[in-house]
Amino acid sequence: METCNAAVITEHNKPLTIQQVKIPDLDPGSLLVRITASTLCGTDVHRWHGPLGDKDTLPIITGHEPCGTVQDIAGERTDILGNPVKRGDRVVWSYVACGSCYYCAVACQPCICRGRASWGHNRSDQHPYLLGSCAEYMYVPKECLIIKVPDEVTSASAAASACAYRTVMHGYDRLGAIKSHETVVIQGSGPLGNFATAVAKDHGAKKVLVIGAPANRLEVTKKMGADAVLNLEEVPEEKQRREWVKDHTDGRGADVVVQVANNMAVPEGLTLLRDGGRYLNIGAGGKANIAVEKIPQEMLFITIRSGEPRHWLQAIDFLASRRKTFPFEEMISKSYSLDQINQAMEAMANYSVVKAVINF
Ligand SMILES: [Zn+2]
Ligand SMILES: [Zn+2]
Repeated sequence: METCNAAVITEHNKPLTIQQVKIPDLDPGSLLVRITASTLCGTDVHRWHGPLGDKDTLPIITGHEPCGTVQDIAGERTDILGNPVKRGDRVVWSYVACGSCYYCAVACQPCICRGRASWGHNRSDQHPYLLGSCAEYMYVPKECLIIKVPDEVTSASAAASACAYRTVMHGYDRLGAIKSHETVVIQGSGPLGNFATAVAKDHGAKKVLVIGAPANRLEVTKKMGADAVLNLEEVPEEKQRREWVKDHTDGRGADVVVQVANNMAVPEGLTLLRDGGRYLNIGAGGKANIAVEKIPQEMLFITIRSGEPRHWLQAIDFLASRRKTFPFEEMISKSYSLDQINQAMEAMANYSVVKAVINF
């Protein structure tokens, strides 16, 4: 059995090691993809620091944001649009929902399917071994939907669409239309925040206000279409931040608030929203309590998990069709080789980069 190089977490909080991991035989309908880029995500850092799911055990190949070229296909496959998939095609691919549980079949909410499969937390010593993106190859199960990446989208941006960007697309899908008189506040200026800024602007918001940090991330945020940014490090008082939003919204508060930081941002975020506004809650992690009596009247609270296959397609389409309006490549701040995985993970952990990419 052949092997390939992969960045493996063998112990939490300890340096990752480059190991030789088995390349599995392909089951009918599955693919082997040679990875061209793997972007890193906050979740990779959380999983490195400690287990996220009860069932996760080590060793695992880190990473769940892959883009790559098709190396081998077991049989015939088509992409999400019905076009044949060929060897050499550059692709991204969706997670897997079971299709037959209550959430998939009755509620039509496959992102909360209890039998869902995702990447970056699967044991690298058990079949099919290659289910993490920081590896030379990945195994793509037959249930995954394939999205081809057009030439004008780089592998790094396409990889980021496999988690951060498609989640943002899912959020706006559930939020519905943004009207041309509406102001959107984005809480967070990481990759999700910056992409969410571009999409809010593109969807017609009158004003997009972003609260985030540090300054280097906010510089990118401005280029992604923010009308105004507020640096959390310079304005540490919650009250002052609320005043800033009120000043921009005739004293009402925002029509829409998009939370792409973490749970700790939610109590403040609700105070930035006008009565009757919509709160789109995307960022996960951390703990917070909400005072029910302070919730705005007639508001909508929308929560998001992951994305459906069409959101992968929407993210890739957005990157291709809006590339002249938004400098997406600036969100990928630093490139590393697979051997530099520990430097890349550290850079993500201390927020010195917006998004790190492992290029192969
Ligand atoms: Zn992610
Ligand atoms: Zn299901």
